Amino acid sequence: MSRVINFNAGPAGLPLPALERARDEFIEFGKSGMSIMEHSHRGKDYEGVHNEAIALLKELLAVPATHEVLFMQGGAHLQFSTIPLNFLPPGKTADYVITGNWANVAASEAKKLGALGVGKVNVAGNTEVEKKFTRVPTQAELKLTPDATYVHTTSNNTIFGTQFQAFPDTGAVPHICDMSSDILSRKLDVSKFGMIYAGAQKNIGPSGVTVVIVKKDALARCTRPIPSMLDYRIHVKKESLYNTPSTVGIFVIEQVLQWIQDEGGLSAIHARNEDKAARLYAELDRTAFWRPHANPDSRSRMNVTWRIHNPDLEAVFIKEATAVGLNGLKGHRDVGGLRASIYNACPTESVDALIAFMKDFEKRNG
Ligand code: PMP
Repeated sequence: MSRVINFNAGPAGLPLPALERARDEFIEFGKSGMSIMEHSHRGKDYEGVHNEAIALLKELLAVPATHEVLFMQGGAHLQFSTIPLNFLPPGKTADYVITGNWANVAASEAKKLGALGVGKVNVAGNTEVEKKFTRVPTQAELKLTPDATYVHTTSNNTIFGTQFQAFPDTGAVPHICDMSSDILSRKLDVSKFGMIYAGAQKNIGPSGVTVVIVKKDALARCTRPIPSMLDYRIHVKKESLYNTPSTVGIFVIEQVLQWIQDEGGLSAIHARNEDKAARLYAELDRTAFWRPHANPDSRSRMNVTWRIHNPDLEAVFIKEATAVGLNGLKGHRDVGGLRASIYNACPTESVDALIAFMKDFEKRNG
């Protein structure tokens, strides 16, 4: 089998060594006579996988002892409701910074819960112009509520291709951040966040698992009864085994995290991601044939978005690129044009192959 070059936004390409390790143990885990999927989630074999995946995440992200790492389900979407249910009591306000579709959904899901007695949502910043987002806000633009219970941001806007290069300063107010599309792509000071969450299907592993990193002292502030599956305190107490987790998902996550470590950890991954993105943006800036979507200071290192000066050529570009094995380059319908998602597992050679194709395409159509 020859693997195609995969620029999908998520689920996205996974590192081949991680897939190979998962394959080797797929039918029989260790010498246990069965697949990991067939083991009890309460048994010793699975326990080893579960604990190792959590330990690797803690190590790679240098998670301080003040924070807990959880595996949950329901994707980032379920976190959009779980967060206000846990952390936004009646009479209080949470600040939301709107930088793209996902930030918008996070805020509107929180607003909906007003009907169930959850506190108020305040939009503390919004960079939307004519239904598009080309940048993240500056610190000076934010109108933060001094006594908010949290500030919610989205670190990387998968659809628009923008990313916070420096996170907003939320002062003493806990910062909750959706890192679905850039977690593990760069070094991070976890201690600055009240909570971080991410659907796994970009840089962590397969879909079906959501990683949550939550500060333990934040949990004490939740005093209301909420459904057990949505209660962080229960997941912390039960060490992410309150109910049956996605055991096979967490098993593949363990392989992906091991691969990151083998590659040299987040310093090495970060340097590679900066280099890959710099190569692609240099091509986009080389000629007016391409029209990069994001403002230079907000450019995402994970999702690179652009148009072609003549939009009629975009469908031709996608068709020809697919024919030569460059997959997943169609932009999201809200931006149009093209998008290359160049997550951790995307090798530099794949980015170089895309750039070579782009140069040739311009020559033939410029
Ligand atoms: N937030 C961001 C930044 C995303 O990119 C996505 C999915 N692409 C989501 C949230 C929604 O994730 P899920 O499908 O896991 O609910």
